[in-house]
Amino acid sequence: MSLIVQKFGGTSVANPDKIKAVAQRVIRSRKEGHQVVVVLSAMSGETNRFVDLAHQMQPIPDPREMDVLLSSGEQVTIALFAMAVKAAGYESISLLGDQVKIITDSSHTKARIKSIDTDLLNRHLDSGKIVVVAGFQGVTADDEITTLGRGGSDTTAVALAAALQADFCEIFTDVEGVYTTDPNVCSLARKIDRISYDEMLELASLGAKVLDIRSVGFAKRYKVPVHVRSTFTETEGTWVVEEDDEMESMLVSGVTYSKNEARITISKVPDTPGTASRIFTPISNANIIIDMIIQNTRAGEMTDMTFTVPRTDYARAMAIVKEVTAEIGAESVSGSENIAKVSIVGVGMRNHSGIATTMFHVLSKENINILMISTSEIKVSCVIEEKYTELAVRALHDAFELDKLNQPTIEV
Ligand code: ADP
Ligand code: ASP
Ligand code: MG
Repeated sequence: MSLIVQKFGGTSVANPDKIKAVAQRVIRSRKEGHQVVVVLSAMSGETNRFVDLAHQMQPIPDPREMDVLLSSGEQVTIALFAMAVKAAGYESISLLGDQVKIITDSSHTKARIKSIDTDLLNRHLDSGKIVVVAGFQGVTADDEITTLGRGGSDTTAVALAAALQADFCEIFTDVEGVYTTDPNVCSLARKIDRISYDEMLELASLGAKVLDIRSVGFAKRYKVPVHVRSTFTETEGTWVVEEDDEMESMLVSGVTYSKNEARITISKVPDTPGTASRIFTPISNANIIIDMIIQNTRAGEMTDMTFTVPRTDYARAMAIVKEVTAEIGAESVSGSENIAKVSIVGVGMRNHSGIATTMFHVLSKENINILMISTSEIKVSCVIEEKYTELAVRALHDAFELDKLNQPTIEV
């Protein structure tokens, strides 16, 4: 008997009828002879609603209490789902993260899974039940409730699949798989049949939210095949697996965007040894991850420092930076939450020059100003004003002909 982990996202369990439909789909897998562990998200919109409520209580909500609040959305869907399965005549049990013992570190609101106890899950599976686990949540060794960061239910699902040595993990969502770019932004986006863990890691890290990046990390480490597919159709989706010869070898494999970042600029920073360390140490001590950093040189002994932080950490980062600015004698701090990062990704870029220049040219033709640039061997990212995001994504998808399978291939 094979074991499958099936995860359903927020739009798939958005209301009672959808929950019942998902229960039927899971029961079908059960009838086909599979053991099934189901991982659910909160109903779509719920987690955002909680974040909103929290901000009405505290400008920077207490992270511990935030986790108690945020984890409640998944509690609702798993209980309703188990009821729907029972109503259809099948055995089921819903379990919270702390009941399963999904042990995490104590970084509230962005905790990492450290271990998963499979005893209880196996006992319930062996007794024939459809086991339903709350996504996105865990518990620390000190019994504190944690959440894994937005989109974290994917990570719960793949981590469970790894721990249980499941045959594969299915991620059911509102699109039919992983596309060359967000199909909700670009109607010409093309579904990719198979993609390697590494390329998916890159797409996810640059904003393709169809899979949470940490879920891809687990999948790669434990070699869990992941099938991303639609809840609402029967169509075969995208397989995320180890690299093989049959995979597309495109120059550029995808265009991504992220509206999850914010920019902070410190003007007229004294250009002396140790300044960068004084600015960034307190930020990293506060567990805030910095993405891009640009330091400009200017005449005299002053420099400007611009960097990006996750938008959810913007207020905290700003508070820290304002304090540091005063201490180091910099002139002023400014920032913006209305930015977006648009990226082109592809392992094929490694051996080709001119890709970045093409990207800059495409953006300039659309009159889009580039605020920051960062490159690596297999991606180019530009920070632009948020309002141009969709325009930039479509123009880049078009320019690199990602709708076609036969764009230039890599010579090996
Ligand atoms: P769920 O609630 O099921 O976890 P998400 O909203 O987190 O779903 O992820 C699915 C969404 O990801 C899609 O609706 C789509 O808009 C977006 N998306 C962004 N980039 C891509 C991509 N490259 N391929 C497919 N979907 C993408
Ligand atoms: N409910 C959480 C969120 O909205 C986790 C998830 O859906 O994956 O981010
Ligand atoms: Mg998601």
